Amino acid sequence: MNIVLLGPPGSGKGTQADLLAKRYQLVHISTGDILRQAMNARTALGIQAEAQIKAGQLVSDDIVSGLVGERLRTPAMQGGGFLFDGYPRNGNQVYQFDAILAKQQLALSHVISLEVSEQTLLQRLLGRRTCDGCGRTVNINLQQAGNKQSCQVCGGELIQRVDDDEAIVQKRLSVYQSETRPVLNIYGERGLLHTVCGDGKVDEVFQHLVSLLSDVL
Ligand SMILES: [Zn+2]
Repeated sequence: MNIVLLGPPGSGKGTQADLLAKRYQLVHISTGDILRQAMNARTALGIQAEAQIKAGQLVSDDIVSGLVGERLRTPAMQGGGFLFDGYPRNGNQVYQFDAILAKQQLALSHVISLEVSEQTLLQRLLGRRTCDGCGRTVNINLQQAGNKQSCQVCGGELIQRVDDDEAIVQKRLSVYQSETRPVLNIYGERGLLHTVCGDGKVDEVFQHLVSLLSDVL
């Protein structure tokens, strides 16, 4: 199984990717992780990526896809399945990914779009706080009762991340929608695309994913 999992910020994509990777023994590849590893290891692409980030730019498609290609050529990838989390994120990256896969004689088996209502996304993203004391993350919109300014474990102050502010969240969601639409269209035309409802609890969503994967196996 070679899977691409797509979903907006707040869709729970990373969590589901971890669960799927464990269940089906897939190598979980997130572009955030391979980018950080390349920068820490000071590889050629890592150094270029760091320069772009320092200049306030987004890391270019060429670099992201270059890192993906390097990752797929590592010996650890031979013979096993993989799960990409958040890549390819635009139409250009889809075509770059096609070339990488063809070179490695690999093919995708499933592209899954985790669909979550905007209301749920906003509730999840806007309620997110991190404790200043113990570092744990909580969601004050899901918390049953009690004080919403301080941590129920250590009493520390609950802080909202700058990029979880409402205007920024709306902007991130609309960027995701417009970048991802071509990706969904391309994979849809190829008959690879499946959509799964990502509203609901982690284990419910995971069951939807597992039943999808066992139906199409
Ligand atoms: Zn705390």
